[in-house]
Amino acid sequence: MRTSRLVATLGPAFLLACATTRPQATDVSLAARVQGPGLLFEVLYSKADERELARIESGLLAVGPRLSRWGSFREGVWIRVFPDHESLERAVDRRGYPWLRAWAYGDQVLLQSPRSWNASEPIEEELNELLTHELTHVLMYQLLQPEDEPVLDAVIEEPPLWFREGMASVTAGQGHRRLSSEDLSHWLAAHPGADLLHPKAELYRTEKEAVYGAAHRAFDLLVRICGDQGVRDVLRGVRTGARFADAFKAATGRSLSDFEQQTIRTGFAALPISASGAGGP
Ligand SMILES: [Zn+2]
Repeated sequence: MRTSRLVATLGPAFLLACATTRPQATDVSLAARVQGPGLLFEVLYSKADERELARIESGLLAVGPRLSRWGSFREGVWIRVFPDHESLERAVDRRGYPWLRAWAYGDQVLLQSPRSWNASEPIEEELNELLTHELTHVLMYQLLQPEDEPVLDAVIEEPPLWFREGMASVTAGQGHRRLSSEDLSHWLAAHPGADLLHPKAELYRTEKEAVYGAAHRAFDLLVRICGDQGVRDVLRGVRTGARFADAFKAATGRSLSDFEQQTIRTGFAALPISASGAGGP
């Protein structure tokens, strides 16, 4: 049985990540509540994934310290476990993404069961990283939501892909999986005209390494320039009604497009704006 608090706090559907239909819960028959300081999850899974529950639970409880740098969840989060990759792709209405293992919305994470990953490394480590990554997305969406009243999804502007994926990747400590700045510069030289920071769907699908690498390095650069506080300020700006680009400018002191262009131009090594104004011999 689901608890009334989770149901009550979840409230109306909050779908920001994309406009796909809600996943069907046809294969799901079991539920487990996972609760820690500032964390409330309801894991929905099928009988076949009963033995996965313990490691999912421990991965969920481990995310707290990493995510707290950005803020706290305002609502409980559903974790829906899908038995295989095919059922995950069906649920998110996307085909041909063999590397995809999870998908996040403002109130839920859809997770391909680790049982079906065929992972080569210790699965706990990878699962913990993935859960931290996905739950960073969830937290970001919740932190963008206006405080007073729920608004229609269309009203809330989604941050650029590099910011969303970079924030999740950096928070989950996934730099060791991402292309280096040097690799990215080579990639960019070999793909003139490709917009890695705002990739089209096909570029995202087929060049995942470059897209996630660029997102990670760009967000990492942003944090080096303006700190965690700058990122929190950007989110707060949007939450209180500003457009993303305006919130970015107010929080970081530079325009979003300048930051993006400079990031690419300097090979992900842009200097802080203050360094350009106080030079001397
Ligand atoms: Zn992501």
